[in-house]
Amino acid sequence: MEGEAGAQGHKTIAHGVTSRTLTARPVSYTCVRCGMPETTDRYPGPTPRYCGACKAIRDAEDADADRRAARARMRRLRQQRKHEDEERAARLPPVF
Ligand SMILES: [Zn+2]
Repeated sequence: MEGEAGAQGHKTIAHGVTSRTLTARPVSYTCVRCGMPETTDRYPGPTPRYCGACKAIRDAEDADADRRAARARMRRLRQQRKHEDEERAARLPPVF
C-alpha cells in the first residue's frame, strides 16, 4: 500500500537534551573583602567577588562615594566661580 509509507509522517528524533534553560547552580567562591568562603546559587555568569554582607557594604560605599564625588565637584565648581568673581573684582578699577 502506498498510503502506509506516508502515514508514518515525520519522525521526531530526540538528540539528547538540548534545553537552553538557564539553571542556577551553586557556586563556591571566597569573598575578596572578608575572605569568607561563600556558596550561593548563581546563574551562569561571572563569579561574584563579595559575600552577601560585603556586597551590601560595597554598594553602600559606592553610593556614598558617588555622593561625595558629586558634592566635591559642586564645591570645586562653586569655589572656582567665586575665585573668578574675586579676580574680576580685583581687576576692576576702584570706583570712587
Ligand atoms: Zn565578605
